[in-house]
Amino acid sequence: MMATAPDAGQHLSLLLKLVNAKRTIEIGVFTGYSLLQAALTIPDDGNITAIDLDRSSYEMGLPIIKKAGVEHKINYIESEALPVLDKLLENPANQGSFDFAFVDADKINYANYHERLLKLLRPGGIVVYDNTLWGGTVAMPDDAVPEFNSASRNFTIKFNKLLAADARVQISQVPLGDGITICRRL
Ligand code: SAH
Ligand code: CA
Repeated sequence: MMATAPDAGQHLSLLLKLVNAKRTIEIGVFTGYSLLQAALTIPDDGNITAIDLDRSSYEMGLPIIKKAGVEHKINYIESEALPVLDKLLENPANQGSFDFAFVDADKINYANYHERLLKLLRPGGIVVYDNTLWGGTVAMPDDAVPEFNSASRNFTIKFNKLLAADARVQISQVPLGDGITICRRL
């Protein structure tokens, strides 16, 4: 349920190559499926700051990451993501220094992540948000959305509107997996 769809993962690999991504951020690791994909794609001296508040699921995927020989590219931080981004921003050297970010964690904070990531990304850098179609519910009338889905669905609609109106980025929403929105920092 939580791991990124393989076709979306394949697309992420292509994007990473297109922007020559070397320094990246991943928010929401889970067992590390999308993380492994990114680690296999970036160069040997590339680095991924990978943040998740629960390390136990990462431990499940770690043997596979080690077997793939890419663990040295990963800086795993077990934490809420927001304070980590704020900490990175405290160092001026980090501002505008990242090529790519993949956001796949708590939807309620996407707008907060967006503000920080735009400062961390270089111009031309890319941030990809996952689950921006939220199972298709963003296109459903209010009364057709199951109760358990409505909070995250409403956040996602609000976030999609925010991105559409954000003149700092060029966007493309792609219906792969559960919907990914690609934002290029202008
Ligand atoms: N990108 C992964 C899937 C991530 S699932 C893949 O493709 O395989 C979402 C993850 O976000 C979960 O592991 C959860 O622990 C993490 N998460 C949820 N809220 C978070 C937060 N506030 N900060 C950091 N990680 C969070
Ligand atoms: Ca996801």
